[in-house]
Amino acid sequence: MSFKVIIIDTVCFLQGVSLSRKDIDVAAPEEVINEVRSRVPKLRLEQMLSSGTVQIRGATKDMINAARQAAEKMGDLPNLSKPDIAVIALAMEQKHVGIEPIVYTGDYAVQNVLKSLGIQFKSINNDGIKTIIHWVYKCDACKVTFKNAPQPAGFCPECGTDGMIRKIKSP
Ligand SMILES: [Zn+2]
Repeated sequence: MSFKVIIIDTVCFLQGVSLSRKDIDVAAPEEVINEVRSRVPKLRLEQMLSSGTVQIRGATKDMINAARQAAEKMGDLPNLSKPDIAVIALAMEQKHVGIEPIVYTGDYAVQNVLKSLGIQFKSINNDGIKTIIHWVYKCDACKVTFKNAPQPAGFCPECGTDGMIRKIKSP
């Protein structure tokens, strides 16, 4: 999938994320722009705005409400600021008008809501939401799986074969 717009949140200005892609628009809602107050990020922001690196785009009131509802559904609404909601709403809005968005955000709650909406994101200052992996132990001889590592180590309690136990991802 090719992304047509990168939506950035406040963290991107604070951390100075490099936006080297020239073929893609970069946009932020006004709520995010207004949230950038400290000196260096503000200078960075002004530079990005005046050079046209970043555009200010907004979402409709309906889309803001839809974003709030989506956040409420996920239980994330209490953790989201007005700029956070604006970022989600802008992503929904862009998607709605046929522009594929990707959101650069450092906010875990934002990521969670975007995930529920099927909107792509790139985590900026943390590792993002990882898929939860469950491991099981499988005997390659008899194909039986065990939730915990069999004891004594390597011995299959089912068929008694030694050294055929493998740790695998649970399907
Ligand atoms: Zn076995």
